[in-house]
Amino acid sequence: LSVKMEIRPLTLPDTIDISTPLTVMWFRQDLRLRDNPALTHAAATGRVLPIYILDDAAAGRWKMGGATRWWLHHSLCRLNDALRGRLWVLSGHSLGELTKLCDALPVAQVVWNRCHEPWRVRQDAEIKATIGRRGVGVDTFNASLLWEPYEVCKADGTPYAVFTPFHRKLCQIPPSGRCLTVPATLETADCPQSATKIEALGLTPDIPWDREFHDLWTPGEAGALEAFERFVSERLASYAARRDRPADSATSRLSPHLHFGELSPVRIWHEARMLTGDSITDPWLRQLCWREFSYHLLWHHAHMCDADLKAGFEGFPWETDSQYLQRWQQGTTGVPLIDAGMRELNRTGTMHNRVRMVTASFLTKNLMTHWLEGARWFWDRLVDADLANNTFGWQWVAGCGADAAPYFRIFNAVLQSRKFDPNGHYLRCWLPELRRLPNSALHAPWRVDPGKLHEAGVKLDENYPGPIVDLRASRERALEAWRRRRFKQ
Ligand code: FAD
Repeated sequence: LSVKMEIRPLTLPDTIDISTPLTVMWFRQDLRLRDNPALTHAAATGRVLPIYILDDAAAGRWKMGGATRWWLHHSLCRLNDALRGRLWVLSGHSLGELTKLCDALPVAQVVWNRCHEPWRVRQDAEIKATIGRRGVGVDTFNASLLWEPYEVCKADGTPYAVFTPFHRKLCQIPPSGRCLTVPATLETADCPQSATKIEALGLTPDIPWDREFHDLWTPGEAGALEAFERFVSERLASYAARRDRPADSATSRLSPHLHFGELSPVRIWHEARMLTGDSITDPWLRQLCWREFSYHLLWHHAHMCDADLKAGFEGFPWETDSQYLQRWQQGTTGVPLIDAGMRELNRTGTMHNRVRMVTASFLTKNLMTHWLEGARWFWDRLVDADLANNTFGWQWVAGCGADAAPYFRIFNAVLQSRKFDPNGHYLRCWLPELRRLPNSALHAPWRVDPGKLHEAGVKLDENYPGPIVDLRASRERALEAWRRRRFKQ
C-alpha cells in the first residue's frame, strides 16, 4: 500500500493594497492548508489575513500544557513557512484582538473552523455577536470532525450515551464534507514589522523533554501527511492484530496531528477506505469513531471536563496522598507496567492506549485518587492532550463516564503486562534496571525469589522500588469503599 499527497506551493503577490477589503482567516486547531474549508472560503473572497491568537486566559484551567505548547510552537512555525512568513501571531483575549484588527484594518469578514471545547464554544458565540454588530461578516466551518456532534442523534433527537449504537449509526452515514485541495492562489496581506514573532509567545520554555521530542515527532502538516502515509503503507494491514501491544509501535501516532488539525479526519477516512478493503480499515476507523464519540459527549455535556458525567460518586472517599500521586507521576510505583507507561509519557509525550487505561485504572482504583488528578498530569505531558479525548478516557476508566467500564472492573497491572507485553520488550525499553530479569519475573519482581533478583542485578527498594501498594489488597480496599458508598445512598 502506498499513498502520496503533495502540498502545492502558494502563489503570493509581492505588493499589498491596503485599501481593499480583507478576510481574516483565524487559524485555531486546523493548522493546515490542505482540506481546510475556512481557508478555501477565505481564499475565494480575495485578500486574506491569516492569524493565530494564543488565548490562555479564556482556556482557564485547561490552558495548554507543556507538551502541547512545544507542539504548537513547531506547528505554527511550519504553517508560517507554508504561508511564506505571512502568519500574524497575536497573544491575548481573542475577542479583544479581533476587535482591534477589525477597527484598524478594512476587515470585511472573519472566518474560522469550529472547535468544540466548551470555552471555545462560549467564546465563539460572543465573538460572532460582537463583531457581527460592527458589520463584519462571520463564517464558520467544520474541519476537525467527521460529523459535527449535533449532526448525529438518536431517532428521538437525543444524544447518544452508548458507543455501539453511535458507531453503528456513523457507519450508515458517509462523513459530511468534501476533501478540498490547497487553495491554488492565496493572496495574503503582509505582516507588519511590529507583529509578534512565534518565538515571543514563549511556547518552548526550557523543558526537559525538548531534545527527545525532536527525534520522535515532526509537528506540522507535512509531518502529519508523512506519518499517515507511513502508517497506511507499513502498519494499517496488521493494525487489528497488533494494536494492543505497546512494544509493537503498531498504531498510527496521528493523535497530536489530529488534535492540532494538521490532518483532516475526513480526508484520512476517505483515503484509508480507498486504499484498502473495509475489513482492513474498519478496526482503525472505529478508533476515529471513538474520537467522534468523545467530542459528541463533550459537546452535549460541557461540564464533563471538570466533573463526573454520571452521578454516583458523591461522597466517595478519594485519597489525597500526594506522595502516591508523585510516585505515579514519576513512574516509581514499583509496578513495572505502570512505571514503564509513566516514564514513556514523561520522555516521549505519549503513551500507548492500553497502558493509558492500565495506568489510569491504577491511579483511580488501586490508589483511589480522583481521575481529575490524572487527567491534569496527562494534560501537561501528552503531545496529543485533547480535552474531549482525555476527559472521555479518564472518565471511562474511572467508571463515571458515559458507557464507561464500571468502577468495580479493575485492571490487574500484572496480568495486563503479561498478556500484552509477553516478551517484556516494552518493560525492558523503559525500565533498564529490570532488563536482565527473565520474562517469568519481569512483570512482578516483588514476587521473585531474592536470589533470582540478585542474579539479575535488581535490588528492590535500592535500584528499583518495591510496590507502593499491594495490588490485591488495594483492589479490595477500593471495592469496599465503592460498596460502602453505594450502601449509603
Ligand atoms: P490509533 O490507534 O492509530 O487511532 C487513530 C486515532 O483515533 C487516534 O489518533 C485518535 O485520534 C483516535 N483514538 C484512538 N483511540 C481513541 C480513544 N480510546 N478515544 C478517543 N479517540 C481515540 N487521545 C487523545 O487524542 N488525546 C488525549 O488527551 C487522550 N487521553 C487519553 C487518556 C486516557 C486515560 C485514555 C485511556 C485514552 C486517552 N486517549 C487520548 C485515547 C488514545 O489513547 C489515543 O488517542 C491513542 O493512544 C493515540 O495513539 P494513535 O494516534 O497511535 O492511535
